[in-house]
Amino acid sequence: MRLLVIGSGGREHALVWKLAQSPHVTQMWCAPGNAGIADERVAKSGQAVECVNIAAEDLPKLLDFARETRPDLTVVGPDNPLAVGIVDLFEKNGLRIWGPNKKAAQFEASKVFSQRFMERHGIPTARAATFSDVEAAKKFVRGLDGRCAVKTDGLALGKGVLICRSVEEADKAIAEMLLHKAFGSAGASIVIQELLEGMEISLHALCDGKTAKLFPTAQDHKRVLDGDQGLNTGGMGAYSPAPFLTDSELKETGRQILEPWLKGCAAEEIHFKGILYPGVMLTKQGPKVLEFNARFGDPETQVYLTRLESDLVELFQASIDGTLDRIDLRWSSTVSVCVVVASAGYPGSYAKGKPIIGLAEVAKLPNTKVFHAGTARPAAPSHSQLPVTSGGRVLGVTAWAETLPSARDAAYYAVNKIAFDGAHYRRDIAAKALPGARPDKSGSPAAQTK
Ligand code: AMP
Repeated sequence: MRLLVIGSGGREHALVWKLAQSPHVTQMWCAPGNAGIADERVAKSGQAVECVNIAAEDLPKLLDFARETRPDLTVVGPDNPLAVGIVDLFEKNGLRIWGPNKKAAQFEASKVFSQRFMERHGIPTARAATFSDVEAAKKFVRGLDGRCAVKTDGLALGKGVLICRSVEEADKAIAEMLLHKAFGSAGASIVIQELLEGMEISLHALCDGKTAKLFPTAQDHKRVLDGDQGLNTGGMGAYSPAPFLTDSELKETGRQILEPWLKGCAAEEIHFKGILYPGVMLTKQGPKVLEFNARFGDPETQVYLTRLESDLVELFQASIDGTLDRIDLRWSSTVSVCVVVASAGYPGSYAKGKPIIGLAEVAKLPNTKVFHAGTARPAAPSHSQLPVTSGGRVLGVTAWAETLPSARDAAYYAVNKIAFDGAHYRRDIAAKALPGARPDKSGSPAAQTK
């Protein structure tokens, strides 16, 4: 099979790496890809993965390319092309593509849609309401004592959520979104949820329109600094499994969310083929969905795919064909840890073009894989041939082992061998899950046990 993968981040590098191992695959393209993706080879044919210089949002050019090369399957990584209907467009042109169509991608593209859907179908979520009127929104936050999450309706690069702990903060957030239009049309409507306390985990389920197959647990680290301080980012690291739910609790949590979700989709004729990724808060009153994403998490993908034993091409085919009920997802018992190394200044503005050293040495380490995110090949031939930084999140250094402490040590061992000017990373990825440090499910440190 010949595959086209769309996207350029760490998630897409992990997807390409895993798909390239499938015995079904003979040739691969990635649009636009990055320096790490360009170094991957298809296991069966030995051919290099070819990066094609077309942006993930440039639907007309992607369609032209796919019409010309006729890939047997296109796999979409990021949310934006899904939200604007790349799946519908490719299908209309007779091209096989994996991911939710535009209607199904609304679960991520519109928080208002998602919140109302959850309420219509009894999916456990925060107390919430949706607004386009400032005064009504201000009245609602007073009922919550100002303790709330104010969210723009549309996609806002992960920046459209403001956490408020007072009426003043909430009023400011409402004004910023509805009056000053800080997020443009994405913020014409907002969702306000009560502030939930607890441990946050990421769930992922592969769906085919009728069946949803739940992945193991994972946990992301959204804030830029150790101890969950500083600004929100796309994600500074992840690990899987996250030991805050037993297998039976995970199954029960999945059941509480996915059963009503599947029934709701059937009732509303939403044929969701792709990954549903609910962000979930484990509260004292049980799990509650904060939001739905309609694609793989980044960096959750890096830890999931280094644990997945099943053939990913076969899973995507079953997701398109509606035959997931006949397939079991197989996972290794290892623990994976991914530490994101970012550019100085991220998540604010940052410089690009810094040469990255140490990658060749790390490539020799066992059970370790560096997934590239914001990297590029050096532009000028006069430079050394080292890859250079080209984004905020630069690398996702991932390692796996039988235990969490060993996987964590291996990931940080590799991180310490890599350097570029201004590199920064969190030193406490997966620290909450270390034996002795595990908080209870409500987020507070566990009582000492003998
Ligand atoms: P979202 O994009 O909706 O997942 O929000 C981004 C982040 O904001 C989440 O990962 C949570 O850490 C936080 N968050 C969102 N909604 C809430 C809420 N209702 N209560 C507490 N924290 C929240």
